[in-house]
Amino acid sequence: MIKIEHLTKKYGNHTAVDDLSLDIEPGRIYGFLGPNGAGKSTTMNIITGYLAATAGTVTIDGHDIFKEPGKAKQHIGYLPEIPPLYPDMTVLEYLEFAAELKGIPRTKRMQEVDEACITSGITDVADRLIKNLSKGYRQRVGIAQAILGAPDVIILDEPTAGLDPAQIIEVRDLIRSLGKEHTVILSSHILSEISEVCNYVFIISKGKLVAADETEELLTHMNGSQEVDLVVRAGQTQTEDIISAFGKADGVENVETSDSFEPGCISVRVHAGKERDIREAVFKAAVNAGLTVLEMTTRSRSLEDVFLELTSADEKDNTDETTEEGGDEE
Ligand code: ADP
Ligand code: MG
Repeated sequence: MIKIEHLTKKYGNHTAVDDLSLDIEPGRIYGFLGPNGAGKSTTMNIITGYLAATAGTVTIDGHDIFKEPGKAKQHIGYLPEIPPLYPDMTVLEYLEFAAELKGIPRTKRMQEVDEACITSGITDVADRLIKNLSKGYRQRVGIAQAILGAPDVIILDEPTAGLDPAQIIEVRDLIRSLGKEHTVILSSHILSEISEVCNYVFIISKGKLVAADETEELLTHMNGSQEVDLVVRAGQTQTEDIISAFGKADGVENVETSDSFEPGCISVRVHAGKERDIREAVFKAAVNAGLTVLEMTTRSRSLEDVFLELTSADEKDNTDETTEEGGDEE
């Protein structure tokens, strides 16, 4: 459906999107997950033809967004981070206007607008001025605009940002129902939102794709993995023998060692494969290798931990850059 290949976007010498490649297949809800500044909006603006890329290609249903923008854009409905709403129009006036801009024929416009209102649950506010609506309703109007003309793919940039908890639940429900008839791509910096709504997750950090998987897979991989930290008295045993002893224990995938602050002792961190309880195997491995276990603690890595690990360096970098850029502008 959508194919992004080696997409790069530079603002001056700052790389906002860095050699990003990914595929979007029909019929699923995709999440772009990443901290602020990761490049989610930039990527979405390029996919939807609002922004030119520095390098790389985006094709939608076989049409290159830069070479055949008309044909490519026909397949896409977009709700940008800041929805392009006109506060002094009524909901109906605005949607009719949006339908006209999308080239929906006059004879079909009213019906399309009605359907978009029903789907988005805004029929009861159709005659109200947009400026008098709550933020939750305004976001639904933005979504109605995106689904006008029944595009195959609906792209929503941070659709729940700034909403209160009740509105967030409503908009998430709406997105789930859109997913039944459309391919949906939404972005968020909130892990729980993506894992709740999306079938497939792309984690983006510093403009790069750092993880891509089915949400379920991502959750089991990451939630289940266990780590055991030990402090062992090594005696005459060499570090490489310690690593090898723990490495042979059932269920262990990886072993790291570091010097302990206690003389003659070594700190060991043992990583398990997913969903394995390796405590017993680790303890027995230590005893068999003649190591005295002084301490042993387990740690489960949550999806939140993994997300932070994958993206934390990024967040710091971008904060610095934003500060610099902000300073330059003022
Ligand atoms: P996200 O949507 O993930 O928060 P963005 O795509 O908005 O990230 O931004 C990615 C990076 O590009 C950030 O470091 C941001 O400061 C920078 N950036 C975005 N838009 C511009 C612009 N118009 N000019 C310069 N830098 C920009
Ligand atoms: Mg953004």
